[in-house]
Formats: sequence, structure tokens, C-alpha cells
Amino acid sequence: MAFADLLHGNAIETYSATGYDYAVEKAGSTVGWSFTIYEEIWNYGFVQEMEHFVQCVKNDLQPIVTGEDVRRGLETIDLTPARFKELTHRDRHADVLKGLAGAARAGLTPVKINTVLMRGINDDEAPALLRFALEHGYQLRFIEQMPLDAQHQWDRHQMVTAEAILASLEPFGLQPDSVSRGTAPAETWLVPGYVDAAGNPARVGVIGSVTRPFCGDCDRTRLTADGQVRNCLFATEESDLRGLLRSGAPDADIAKAWQTAMWGKRAGHGIDDPSFLQPARPMSAIGG
Ligand code: SF4
Repeated sequence: MAFADLLHGNAIETYSATGYDYAVEKAGSTVGWSFTIYEEIWNYGFVQEMEHFVQCVKNDLQPIVTGEDVRRGLETIDLTPARFKELTHRDRHADVLKGLAGAARAGLTPVKINTVLMRGINDDEAPALLRFALEHGYQLRFIEQMPLDAQHQWDRHQMVTAEAILASLEPFGLQPDSVSRGTAPAETWLVPGYVDAAGNPARVGVIGSVTRPFCGDCDRTRLTADGQVRNCLFATEESDLRGLLRSGAPDADIAKAWQTAMWGKRAGHGIDDPSFLQPARPMSAIGG
């Protein structure tokens, strides 16, 4: 027997049924019934998870459970189809480019592309990736690789730091961005000579999660496809909303559970602490 235990469809809608001030990020409205917009459904993994589930049942395949198969691909848009396939194990480079163009056409701007540079694998591509993003009016953001890999093999000394990323972008003559970062994870710089799709000065972002942590400003919680709230990427505990939902708990209780998780955020990720423990679930298992 096989089964999938995911939140799917209506479960997300019910979170905002009475207009509480919590909702899935980017939902069309936080009042009344709210829906995640289409790409958020993709982000939460519903479509991919179900497609994979059906394929496994139909073809008697071993399900991917560790995230290993896609560990490198989820946050990497690569410029060459061959390298994209090598990294992601999927021949879908053209689909990604089509998806980006489609998002821009639909007005989902700024279209942001997240990329992780890995030493000896794609760290030669930073300038080309930025040029590609600028020419298409997308906003590129580089994210330092974090210890969230399925193999638990992350090595600080192999990581491409924010400083190294910025050094490789020197030819662009980046200028400081006067717009406040607020609670956003990315530090941004202006790229002289370019504008984004809306005609505003083009920006590039660097998310220095490891060497330039911004946990003190972080207001993010994350809802996984199986209904768990994580109050930090590095949280080792989760808060179960799925159980509350399925037990018919009132919205107020669900809101309270989410709020409790939010206020329980730790002051920092503690990667530098000798007692740091990498979470059991890798990035690809908690929604990218
Ligand atoms: S608190 Fe956690 S999720 Fe927020 S920035 Fe720090 S490490 Fe990332």
C-alpha cells in the first residue's frame, strides 16, 4: 500500500477563512477565503510531489525521500542546458527559461532568480548569470550555500562567500542601494546602466546567510507541504498545523499555534556554535 500525506488544495485556503492576519505568503488576500497563487503551489511542492507519487505507484519506483536527487538543482538556474541537466538530473533547462518569461509576461515582477554558487561547479558563472538576468529584466540573487544539504557534507571552507561573489561582480561597478533592506534576506546593489522590467534601476542581491547573518531582522516562518511550521531554516523542531486542521480546530487555535512558533524564533542560526546540529530535513524537503 502507498499513500501520500500532504496538505493539498483546500487545507491552505482554510488558513485565512475568517480573515486572520496570517496567510500563505503572496496569497491574493488575507481576508476571507484566500488561495496561494499558482507558483506558490509549485513552491510548496504539491504538483511535483503528487506527480512523483503517481509515477512511483504506476511504475513501482522507489520514492525520493531524502531530497538527494534534487539537492543541487532547486535553487540553481544555469546558463548552459548541459550543465543544468548535470546539476538537476533533469533535462528541463528550456522549461525554466519559459517559466521565467511567462512570469514576466504575467506581470509577476520583479521576477527573482535565486542561485547558489558552488566551488568548482558553477562559480565561474556569476558575471554571465547577472548579465543574463539584467538583459531580461530579472533580479538575480546569489545565496551563500548553507548546511542544509541532504548528505550533510557542507563545508564552510568550500562555500563561495558573499565577499567572493561581490568580488566576481566588480566589472559591473555595483553601487550601494539606498533603499532599506527591512526584513528582506538580500542585501541589494544597484547595477549602473541597467533598468528592471518596470523601468526602475536594476538591482542584484546577495544573501549572505552564513558570513553576513541577518537573523535579528528575520520575520519568516515556513509552512512545509506536510503541514509543519518551521520558524527557521535551521529549526530542529516543527509545529504541527496539519494535525490541528484535520482535527477541526478553530481558526483561532491554528493562528495561535503559528504565532507561538513565530515568537519562538531563536536569535540566530548558530552555524558557528560548536553545538550546531544540521536539521534532519534538507532544504529540498522543506519547500526549497
Ligand atoms: S532566523 Fe533562520 S530563517 Fe531567519 S535568517 Fe536566520 S537562519 Fe534564516
